[in-house]
Amino acid sequence: MIIAVDGYSSTGKSTVAKMLAAELSLIYIDTGAMYRVVTLAALRRDLIHGETIDKGALYKCLKDINIGFKYNADLNSYETYLNGEFVEEQIRSMHVSDQVSGIAAIDFVRDFLVAQQREMGERESIIMDGRDIGSVVFPNADLKFFMTSSPEVRALRRYKEMEKKGVKVSYEEVEANVRKRDYIDTHREVSPLLQTDDAIVVDSSEMTIEEVVELMVSKIKEIKI
Ligand code: C5P
Repeated sequence: MIIAVDGYSSTGKSTVAKMLAAELSLIYIDTGAMYRVVTLAALRRDLIHGETIDKGALYKCLKDINIGFKYNADLNSYETYLNGEFVEEQIRSMHVSDQVSGIAAIDFVRDFLVAQQREMGERESIIMDGRDIGSVVFPNADLKFFMTSSPEVRALRRYKEMEKKGVKVSYEEVEANVRKRDYIDTHREVSPLLQTDDAIVVDSSEMTIEEVVELMVSKIKEIKI
């Protein structure tokens, strides 16, 4: 079984996808983390200067970027590794968040990651979250969800998460980042974020995470019958 969860940044996609994975015994794959790892690798190699990315050098180094996920039972969550190094915290920094949508707009980066994502879906039953899962990675997914909510609600959610982790950042900075990523993600030429006709739209602005999960579980049970 393949379940696609697409939508805007900070709509709670990964939180609900993780909860659904635990409840339905599916493997959870966070494709945003994969784009974040490539961004971190590009930053470490000093390939990003303002709006300019050294694409030639990035293309050459993709083969040296090995992305891994390991399950942490204590946190009931998958953690991200770059060539065996734990990078879960670094990939969530504002520095990476500021650059990731630019990296994700590059066609060969998407080809590189989409191939790996499809391979993961061939091996097991998965729930995958991202921007193009229902439209490009798995157009024949068993079920597709598209999550949305207002930019203010999303920015506040992300701000509170970062504050809790002790990251020093202002609400305004977070809101600007959410809006910038929305714009780049929906306007890029390759695989822009879009809602497919067959996706179930979930607007989480006025819903708790538990209500969202309950709604999604009921939809998944409908197709399993
Ligand atoms: O999901 P998350 O917010 O961590 O994703 C980070 C960025 O990666 C997104 O803003 C988007 O630019 C990119 N992304 C993408 N396609 C995906 C997943 C993420 O373009 N399938």
